[in-house]
Amino acid sequence: MPVVVSLVYLLSHERILTSSKTFVFLFKMSFFCSMLMSMLDTKLKEVLSTTKKHLSMLSSLGIETVRDLLLYYPRAYTDERESTQIIDMKLADTNVVQGRLTSFKMRKGRNGMYIGEGIISDDTGSIPVIWFNQKYLEGVLRIGSRYYFSGKLKYDRGRSVFHGPKVEPISEDVLHTGRIVPVYHETMGLTSKWLRSKIYSVLHYSKEFSDDLPAAIRTELGLVELPYAISHIHFPPDESSLEKARRRLSFDELFYLQLKYMRMRKAWRDGSNSLVIERADDDMKSFVEKLGFSLTQAQRRTLIEILSDMGRGVPMLRLVQGDVGSGKTVIAALAALNVVKNGYQVAFMVPTEVLAKQHFQKLQPQFERLGITAEILVSGVGDKQAIYDRLKSGEIGVVIGTHALIQEKVEFQNLGLAIVDEQHRFGVEQRKKLASHGTPHLLSMTATPIPRTLAMIVYGDLDISIIDELPPGRKEIITRIVEDKKRVDAYRWIREQIESGDQAYVICPLVDDSDALAEVKSVKAEFERLNEGAFKGLAVGLLHGKMSSQEKDSIMKSFKDGDIKVLVSTSVIEVGVDVANATIMMIEGAERFGLAQLHQFRGRVGRGGKQSYCFLLPSKFTPEGVTRLMALTRHHSGFDLADIDLSMRGPGEIYGTRQSGIPDLKIASFADSELIKLSRDMAMRVVEGQ
Ligand code: ADP
Ligand code: MG
Repeated sequence: MPVVVSLVYLLSHERILTSSKTFVFLFKMSFFCSMLMSMLDTKLKEVLSTTKKHLSMLSSLGIETVRDLLLYYPRAYTDERESTQIIDMKLADTNVVQGRLTSFKMRKGRNGMYIGEGIISDDTGSIPVIWFNQKYLEGVLRIGSRYYFSGKLKYDRGRSVFHGPKVEPISEDVLHTGRIVPVYHETMGLTSKWLRSKIYSVLHYSKEFSDDLPAAIRTELGLVELPYAISHIHFPPDESSLEKARRRLSFDELFYLQLKYMRMRKAWRDGSNSLVIERADDDMKSFVEKLGFSLTQAQRRTLIEILSDMGRGVPMLRLVQGDVGSGKTVIAALAALNVVKNGYQVAFMVPTEVLAKQHFQKLQPQFERLGITAEILVSGVGDKQAIYDRLKSGEIGVVIGTHALIQEKVEFQNLGLAIVDEQHRFGVEQRKKLASHGTPHLLSMTATPIPRTLAMIVYGDLDISIIDELPPGRKEIITRIVEDKKRVDAYRWIREQIESGDQAYVICPLVDDSDALAEVKSVKAEFERLNEGAFKGLAVGLLHGKMSSQEKDSIMKSFKDGDIKVLVSTSVIEVGVDVANATIMMIEGAERFGLAQLHQFRGRVGRGGKQSYCFLLPSKFTPEGVTRLMALTRHHSGFDLADIDLSMRGPGEIYGTRQSGIPDLKIASFADSELIKLSRDMAMRVVEGQ
């Protein structure tokens, strides 16, 4: 089975195992056990007393069976165990009161709304209560009975009134108040209250969950059993049982995720026809001599890691994380060089045409000198059929390109190495597709450094090299937040710098709804404004994603050659562009971008030896936005910024869609590094068959 097929296979059959030792055996057993029909598969329509409408709402959330419903975990909890005496109730606070309903009447208001009014009393006093639009209470509440009441105390027309409290009879099984109360995602018209009582009604089924986790692991890690965890995640009697339940379920979630990664890795590594790449030392030496600089320690270390991976006869799966400007391209080029010299081909995929061309222009002459044929493949340019033919015949050694590289028509004679630059810009599927020709070595590169534990979740199947050192002589980029009233001064100062020979970028804000046309409109307007105004008489250029590639090309070329002094651009400029003479980066609407992206923009300047500057112009000053931008003025390492961004915004927002490989964790937290490590170790043990 080709490796990629088996990767996909493993992805969709995450419980099928490859080795046969004890753990694994136990796993297989439990897998087959859990395949047997279980009470948990009972359809909800057979057990819930509810309406068709509610059943179909559940169904649209993918909840069909008892199992599904029990696995719909609360999103939060409110602690309503402490009740307040009426005399101690606080205005505007949520108060939980245990009291007797001493009077109650339902009437119809003038606008047709039902209004329930009554009095609640306890030993310390009494308080008026009011409910709007809850006619059913008439049939539920009994004057003289005792209830839990939980809600807000408001000041209304000269008196304090208990406003629409939740109400529930005092008994052993209180669900909605007087306890730690689970709160569910309320979608599709399903309320938390409704979910709570329905989940409670099937809670006794939780004992049917068979524990897939071998008892040995459970005992070793001190985890509670699955049935306990499921029932206590919904209705915990106290904090400690909730914590135990959460830990168990989080562990499971992380563990199965890691298990999937470990198996993918094993399957990839077990690929039979993996290529052994011998080091081409003389060629590397010759390549480096021509560079005009020597490699940093971190570059060297990374290169050695790559070469030793590729020499081992096991397909490489490595991710290089290195800050903007840390010099990843040359490492990729050296890796490519070795592969071609061993008689195999290299595909080098980048996210934008601008970047493909830049890499190609830089690398092609160097490769040519060493007898390596390099080509570029981007959509809509040149005679593609000729390139396809030459790739198939093996004439081309290194092909650099965009998504065009993963088109159906592209075939290689013998792909030895797939390189994915700025890999966070590609989806998992795209990366896989590039590597689907034979069993090539796989090298991914990213300038979006992410914290270690997060990397374990996102790139669980990859080995990681870190280039944590910038080439010598780089100056820290001076970064400032510019208030609107200082804008004119900023323009004047930039103008002076440009007149004395520097170049600048102006990045236009992200348009909210990712509407490409609106984006183009805004960048054009900004271009005209600057061209007629602050930068009148200077050569101002415009770059955006809707231009043809020839247009983009010629603009980039003019900027590189210094014919354009100010380049007004959308975020297409973000990735990888390298113009040493550019020293000023001005970012409009800066608060709309993530820190990682801002850091990428900033990395476009400071590439030569000159002092460089980054100006952040927020379109809106919010405390949260300014705090984030302040982080950028103080921190210059992408790793530090990644940590800050993660703690401020959470991983989903930073790294974008699910496509980017960030799994949607249902219960586990990205911040729980202890559990992440633990689950990884365990998964590794299982897959290694210990
Ligand atoms: P990134 O890691 O962001 O992809 P690049 O590979 O584009 O960075 O490198 C940024 C710049 O630094 C390039 O101009 C490159 O030639 C230069 N460079 C790379 N390595 C070194 C080094 N060891 N010493 C000096 N300059 C270097
Ligand atoms: Mg790069």
